[in-house]
Amino acid sequence: MRLNVAWQIIIGTVAIQVVMVAALLFSGITQVQQNQQEVLERTAEQQSRLLGSALTPGLAYADPAMLQDLLDLLGDDSNVLYAVVLDASERPMASVGVAPDTLPAAEAGVRSESGQVEIARQIELSGQSLGTVAVGYSTDAIDQLSTNLLERNVLLALGVLGLSILAAILFALMTTRRLRLLLQGGRALEAGQLDHRVRIDSRDEFGDLARTFNDMAAHLGTTQSTLLQQNLQLNRSVARLESMLGGANAILWEANPGNHEWEFVAGDTRKLLGFPSRNLGRGELRARHIHPDDLPRVRDAAREPGNEPKVVDYRFAHRNGQWIWLRDILSWAEGTGSPRSLRGLTLDVTAHRRATAALKESENRYQDVVNHISEVIFRTDAEGRWTLLNPAWESLTGFPVEETLGKPMCAFVDPEDQDDAQNFCDTLLEGGTHAQSEEIRLRTHDGSHRWVSIYASARFDEDGQIMATFGTMMDISDRKEAEEEIRRLAFFDGLTGLPNRTLLHDRLGQALANTARSRHHGAVLFIDLDNFKDINDTLGHAVGDDLLRQVARRMEDSVREADTLARLGGDEFVVILNDLHPDPARAATEAEAVGRKLINLLREPFELAGQNRHVTPSIGATLFSGHSLGVEEVLKQADLAMYRAKNAGRNTVRFYDPGLHRAVEARFELENELRHALDEDRFTIVYQPQVEADGRVIGAELLLRWPHPQRGAISPGEFIPIAEQTGLIVPIGRKVLRTACAQLAAWQHIAAFRELTLSVNISARQFRNKHFVQQLREILQETGAPGDRLKLELTESMLLEEIDTVVAHIDELRTLGVEFALDDFGTGYSSLAYLKQLPLAQLKIDQSFVRDVLDDPNDAAIAQMVVNLAHTLDLDVIAEGVETAEQRAFLFGLGCRHFQGFLYGYPGDLSDLERAVLGTSPAQQSAAQSPH
Ligand code: C2E
Ligand code: MG
Ligand code: MG
Repeated sequence: MRLNVAWQIIIGTVAIQVVMVAALLFSGITQVQQNQQEVLERTAEQQSRLLGSALTPGLAYADPAMLQDLLDLLGDDSNVLYAVVLDASERPMASVGVAPDTLPAAEAGVRSESGQVEIARQIELSGQSLGTVAVGYSTDAIDQLSTNLLERNVLLALGVLGLSILAAILFALMTTRRLRLLLQGGRALEAGQLDHRVRIDSRDEFGDLARTFNDMAAHLGTTQSTLLQQNLQLNRSVARLESMLGGANAILWEANPGNHEWEFVAGDTRKLLGFPSRNLGRGELRARHIHPDDLPRVRDAAREPGNEPKVVDYRFAHRNGQWIWLRDILSWAEGTGSPRSLRGLTLDVTAHRRATAALKESENRYQDVVNHISEVIFRTDAEGRWTLLNPAWESLTGFPVEETLGKPMCAFVDPEDQDDAQNFCDTLLEGGTHAQSEEIRLRTHDGSHRWVSIYASARFDEDGQIMATFGTMMDISDRKEAEEEIRRLAFFDGLTGLPNRTLLHDRLGQALANTARSRHHGAVLFIDLDNFKDINDTLGHAVGDDLLRQVARRMEDSVREADTLARLGGDEFVVILNDLHPDPARAATEAEAVGRKLINLLREPFELAGQNRHVTPSIGATLFSGHSLGVEEVLKQADLAMYRAKNAGRNTVRFYDPGLHRAVEARFELENELRHALDEDRFTIVYQPQVEADGRVIGAELLLRWPHPQRGAISPGEFIPIAEQTGLIVPIGRKVLRTACAQLAAWQHIAAFRELTLSVNISARQFRNKHFVQQLREILQETGAPGDRLKLELTESMLLEEIDTVVAHIDELRTLGVEFALDDFGTGYSSLAYLKQLPLAQLKIDQSFVRDVLDDPNDAAIAQMVVNLAHTLDLDVIAEGVETAEQRAFLFGLGCRHFQGFLYGYPGDLSDLERAVLGTSPAQQSAAQSPH
């Protein structure tokens, strides 16, 4: 039977109360009754004692009335049932009420019976018993009192009982109400209403319980919402994983590493493998579907645990009866507390495998093509270095592919095509164009070259930066040869291989255009072999052809690269000479020199048909400059000149212009005379003073003079170039140097002249001579001249070629103290770079600028520039050709401090110079001298 708490409290409380009240009542009443009995007995005792005292006189006097009175008094008390006084002999003396038959014994004290209390007392006087008094009291009053008390207590107990039941009910009601609220809370929680709160605000245990409950509910609420959230996410993740696995046609699984039984599978095994996962859960079931050839590999992979995931591809028999390729990616997971488990991701890689196989197949085909194609296929990186070449490369060039890779493309180009190849690469690699083609020569391993047609295109990344180039190269050497052959046939003479008439016309046209631009002269030499017809007729045409070939070879070797040797036909050859001197006479001389050279060249006998035969040419020459004449006219002039040569007795050169011819003749005459003059030591030397700003002579320049017996003095400007061309300048120059050194040595002993310097002009040809330094050293030693007093004047033209030799010579001579000046500065092509490189001491402002320095602003500017330059480079500067005081003042104003010129002295003999040095007013003195 179920009793709720309220009843339990009420029944419990009532039961306890009833027991408690009953006990209290019982003990209370019993106590009261006992107490009243005792009180009654004590009262009886006291009254009997008092009564005894009061009765003593009556007894002593045995006065019964007295005794009776006293007893009557006593008898007024309603509680007294009887009183009797007995004398010593126990006779009644007085009495009230009805005494019982047997009175209690005096010595027994109080006798209690139901309903009465009796007492007997002996009354003594002086130790002598007078009698006995016995009194009986009724207990009714006491009983009545007890009954009243009992009644009242029972009523009180009932009242208390009632109140306590009421209290129990109230308490039960209050407790159960709160318990009910808690119960409701519990039920609400049970029903999932986590927002339910128990409303008990009291500050007692119920309140605490309710608050704890509410806190718990709140906590549960947040926990539940977190859990819900997580659950949602988990569900989403699971759904996503499932959909990903489904999309990728893959499954994820975890298996027992012992028997490979799947313990967990995610993904659609039906879709992937054709079976539900439960049909394949056991390892051996799956193994039945794996291709027997692949099974060992799969087992191996799953057997060995490792830290790295393992990948194994294998064939699997799909339910649809086809083999599919699967890929397992296996890993071993360490479970916390549990043994390791095998985890796998299984993917369908059939399509991938097929694509790979197809790719491999296509790559093989591609490789096949690339390896066997005759064209070179290449790739380069963004810097133009080979990164891929097919074997055709080695067949083409002989360089192994492995040795070539990584090297720059241009490293394999024939030097002659380097520029084209560089342009090709630059254009492509700088992104100027996406595709380029070019025909170039590659050099091959054996040192020859092959023509290739190269086609390349560039690959760019997203930023437009070049990533690579790739292309092909085709061997077009055969085609080029054929083209060359065609060109040869079209432009070259079949017999000698020399340019034919067509090409000659072309080249001559170009030469005319060049001279128009450069102001230089060109020349045509028309060469005809003398008596060639005789050879042809006597020895046959084959020998004639042989002769023509031999003649062509000899002449070819002696013609400069810039010039053209052509065969017009028969025994006629033509030479075009370019870049001759702007001066016609000089140009004619140069042309004539070439003609003579050719004559000398052919002078040696030719071996023809086993015989030595002499052949002489007749050469006609003509100069051209600019477009005043056409090609044909120039050739015609040369042809005419050739006839003049024939008429003049053959084996000679003749010019179309008779005036020129005379000039050339005169020049040759001069050359001969120059040789004689040298042999006969007919050259003299004059000295022109060089002065300080204050006019003090500090040295002199040595200038050559050639007093000609017939023509008088010949200017060095005329004979020095001839001496240079013929090489005579070397011995002539040596003589001048020796004179200068001897003079310097002689001056060492004279205080006034000791400080003087001498400047000697040195020609290019002379200076470049490899013995020059040694010879000068010897001269200095032999004469004992101080090197530091000697100054060599070089011209700018000499710096144009072989600058290294020039610098080396200068450096070497400077160790001897010799100094260098740059003569005629400003007239040549001096590059400032040279100037920096050359350890010079002095610049000489050319007289051509000094001449018009006052009138021509350009000349003044140049003079100023030379002075500034000299100062910048820390060089001395001297102006030559100073004729007037105004020129001198102007130059002084520019910053020039050294001067040379007629103003200070004409070139004169040594004594003039020495006088000038010693003279107080050199300017006046030299002005007084007559011109030399
Ligand atoms: P250069 O070395 O520039 O010599 C200066 C030329 O200017 C000299 O001509 C000189 O006489 C002339 N001159 C000097 N002062 C004046 C002046 O105030 N007014 C004018 N109008 N001319 C003046 P020169 O003697 O006819 O020499 C011509 C060139 O021949 C020299 O030019 C030099 O290049 C060359 N030369 C002379 N002697 C030699 C030599 O021994 N060896 C070499 N290799 N060349 C020499
Ligand atoms: Mg000079
Ligand atoms: Mg000069």
